[in-house]
Amino acid sequence: MIIILRSGATDQDIEQVAESLRERGYGTHISRGVERTIIGAIGARDEEKATVAEQLEAFPSVERVIPILRPYKLVSLEAKPDRSVIEIGPVRIGGRKVVVMAGPCSVESEEQVLCVARAVKAAGASILRGGAFKPSTSPYGFRGLEKEGLALLRKAADREGMLVVTEVMDPRDVPLVANYADILQIGTRNMANFTLLTEVGLTRKPVLLKRGMASTIEEWLQAAEYIMLGGNHQVILCERGIRTFETFTRNTVDISAVPAVKELAHLPVIVDPSHGTGRASMVPAVARAAIAAGADGVIVEVHPHPEQALKDGPQSLRPEAFAALMVELAAVAKAVGREV
Ligand code: PEP
Ligand code: MN
Repeated sequence: MIIILRSGATDQDIEQVAESLRERGYGTHISRGVERTIIGAIGARDEEKATVAEQLEAFPSVERVIPILRPYKLVSLEAKPDRSVIEIGPVRIGGRKVVVMAGPCSVESEEQVLCVARAVKAAGASILRGGAFKPSTSPYGFRGLEKEGLALLRKAADREGMLVVTEVMDPRDVPLVANYADILQIGTRNMANFTLLTEVGLTRKPVLLKRGMASTIEEWLQAAEYIMLGGNHQVILCERGIRTFETFTRNTVDISAVPAVKELAHLPVIVDPSHGTGRASMVPAVARAAIAAGADGVIVEVHPHPEQALKDGPQSLRPEAFAALMVELAAVAKAVGREV
């Protein structure tokens, strides 16, 4: 906490405030400026800061008290200096090996999802992505095959020996989606849906938490804290692009969010270059940049016939382009001391 005294505070005033801090068991650091004196209080617990700040403001010599609250604790690297590695069967997310999640934006048919799964697995992806419950900005857009889509994803992933990541949008669907998926995805539109975050926090399924399209890194980490507070510590962060004034790309990929998260948190972080750019032609470059920047993986949309996709065709790679990207990612990973 920082206590700012009014200009003109006397030595006696300063001592009175400092004494009251010592009585509470805090350390003090007094800094006397020309205009004002500022006292730093060391050792207050977060839970008591708001109340103590109000009490200290009752001293006539105190102008303002700034309680410095850490916005998140469980997520922070300070709390857990050894980085989290999330292990799901044979896959480790956050380790030396970079993980690649790939698949269609939406599950459209059995043929489509089996075909994509076979192709992305053959190219080296270990996790099959695909939406069964589709968030759609337009209420007239495709909303997904729901339960049938979940079953198709599971079938395709099992056939190829892959894991499944898929989005859950409604707290009431968490048990259903958890029944089919290995990783529960929270979409950008739901990053601040605290009921949903709490619900997935009560499961023991890993969660892929996308960054809100208009959220700061701090808000994103606070959303992760919501999940972890429920006892579920298996959170993977995903930068998927944020809204800016730029219109050429669908979103603006914040590559700097990757090293930022690495500085602040112990959780793995991946990048979604598909929703990040909205353009298939730009996906490989941004995926390479993500791995070069230290991301623990990427999630990429792949469709056998992007021109027929019900959703996100313009940003979906054809299987051949995805296979070529995997080769490039292996080279970038090697250059930064990792592997694909
Ligand atoms: C998706 O991954 O299919 C998706 C809808 O992503 P986002 O929530 O990032 O838009
Ligand atoms: Mn999509």
